[in-house]
Amino acid sequence: MSMPTISHYDVIIVGAGRVGLLLSCELRLAHCSVLVLEQAPDAHAALKQAPFGIRGLNIPSLEALQRRGLLDAVTAPVHSDSALAASRPHWMQHARRPGGHFAGMQFFQDQIDTAAWPYRLPSRASESMPTTMERLESVLAQRAAELGVEVRRGVRVTDMAQWPDGVQVQAGGAQLQGHWLVGCDGGRSLVRKAAGFDFAGTGPEFTGYSVEATLENSTGLRPGRHYTATGMYTFQPPGTIAMVDFDGGAFHGSTPITAEHVQTVLRRVSGTDVRVPSLQLASTWTDRARQATRYRQGRVLLAGDAAHIHSPLGGQGLNLGIGDAMNLGWKLAATVRGGAPAGLLDSYTAERHPVGAQVLDWSRAQVALMRPSPATRALADIVRDLIATRDGATYFADRVWGATLRYDLGDPHPLVGRSAPDFALADGSTLASHLQTGQGLLLDFDTAAPLRGLAMGWQGRLRYIASPAADELGLTSLLVRPDGIVVWVADGVAQSEPASAAIQRWFGTTP
Ligand SMILES: Cc1cc2nc3c(=O)[nH]c(=O)nc-3n(C[C@H](O)[C@H](O)[C@H](O)COP(=O)(O)OP(=O)(O)OC[C@H]3O[C@@H](n4cnc5c(N)ncnc54)[C@H](O)[C@@H]3O)c2cc1C
Repeated sequence: MSMPTISHYDVIIVGAGRVGLLLSCELRLAHCSVLVLEQAPDAHAALKQAPFGIRGLNIPSLEALQRRGLLDAVTAPVHSDSALAASRPHWMQHARRPGGHFAGMQFFQDQIDTAAWPYRLPSRASESMPTTMERLESVLAQRAAELGVEVRRGVRVTDMAQWPDGVQVQAGGAQLQGHWLVGCDGGRSLVRKAAGFDFAGTGPEFTGYSVEATLENSTGLRPGRHYTATGMYTFQPPGTIAMVDFDGGAFHGSTPITAEHVQTVLRRVSGTDVRVPSLQLASTWTDRARQATRYRQGRVLLAGDAAHIHSPLGGQGLNLGIGDAMNLGWKLAATVRGGAPAGLLDSYTAERHPVGAQVLDWSRAQVALMRPSPATRALADIVRDLIATRDGATYFADRVWGATLRYDLGDPHPLVGRSAPDFALADGSTLASHLQTGQGLLLDFDTAAPLRGLAMGWQGRLRYIASPAADELGLTSLLVRPDGIVVWVADGVAQSEPASAAIQRWFGTTP
């Protein structure tokens, strides 16, 4: 798809991180003109590579990539990437297959009872998988280029304004105009501040460090994760350190990180007299947990870290951002195109804000289990015992993997609001492959195709497929949004509304 050079865009996105790039692809799939502005001249950065750039992708993220035909590209190199495999965090280096962790407490795949999760069918996206930020970003950047997204690098947005019918950004001495603006510009979002979004939440208790250093006199440091009377550290020889110092978040962002400072903190939290003569790489983070109270103000929207920040404990931030982009993309595109159902764009906040709020609480709960006090260690021992049970491992895996994420769409059927199962159709294809164009899907398991006529007139927005499936889960038909969420089902017993009403409710009026 090629796009002419224009100066007035349907959508301007600030930030070409993973979230901004994915959102740009979603909008472009629906033929919107999109400009992405990114301040960094170069996409490469050491912190996006292993070990610190490793990110665990949860089930909704993997499903999103699978549904856009990107899963192989994102995950294939990971399995053969020996650097990544060798530098996996300590919690991934177990004889048993690890499933993830909660405040460093491991749960294992062989304990998880996936039968407890209703409406899931076998799929390549059925358990969490690691990748690196650099890999994911390069796959998305290539996809954006193929789709004709205009990405301008080395351009910092310094201000923005909006009117009832448009937006304008100030960037690199130029003024650029569009109909909509999306801030995907990370935790310190200029867009969020300039547009006046409320960013509510809780302050930090600690400064976290990710460090690659040359160490001397390090025999006292034990590999793996360790809670001490003064904090927490993980050590992966020869010199990879992550540590948490309960300083109220005072150090983060205050002064440049020096080897001397890292040595002081590492000695304090580890209780050893390790020496740190030099640093190769160092960054800090905190457990500050804040969230925009709404994700839309007029013509300005937020997605990813711009909308919510929290500690990286439990590895959920990127997954949240991917979910935001998938949820927002088709809704904003429908609004740009015209004829979108009333309230569709505002359903972005209604659906995604509660998911973000849950993740913030999930990370706060982990902070509570890391505080350096005897009471906390006693509580952590109890949680560790619970994680080791089958029910416990299944519960934690569900939360970390996002296995049963469900939006409340007001329909009591347990599948409505959930990700569509990856039905295996009679021709060998699966449901995921039919979502690659970014259209919705009306799937009819009856080959007599009784619903075919209903999908007419929604060209480019809704596909119709009539096919039996290997396992139809007791359904006769279902309606799936472009982001893969089921919004209507028929099971031959009862249905909340006719299919035609559901199509109009989600896809609006025909052009
Ligand atoms: C140590 C650590 C471990 C983590 N582990 C995980 C994990 O395992 N799983 C997980 O899901 N998440 C994890 N996260 C969180 C995850 O990395 C982030 O949530 C995610 O990368 C945010 O993506 P984003 O695109 O929203 O923002 P960013 O990646 O911050 O991208 C924002 C982009 O906007 C650009 N930008 C900013 N301001 C401007 C401006 N004014 N003009 C133009 N461009 C601008 C920036 O240069 C940047 O490229 C971790 C985070 C940390 C710190």
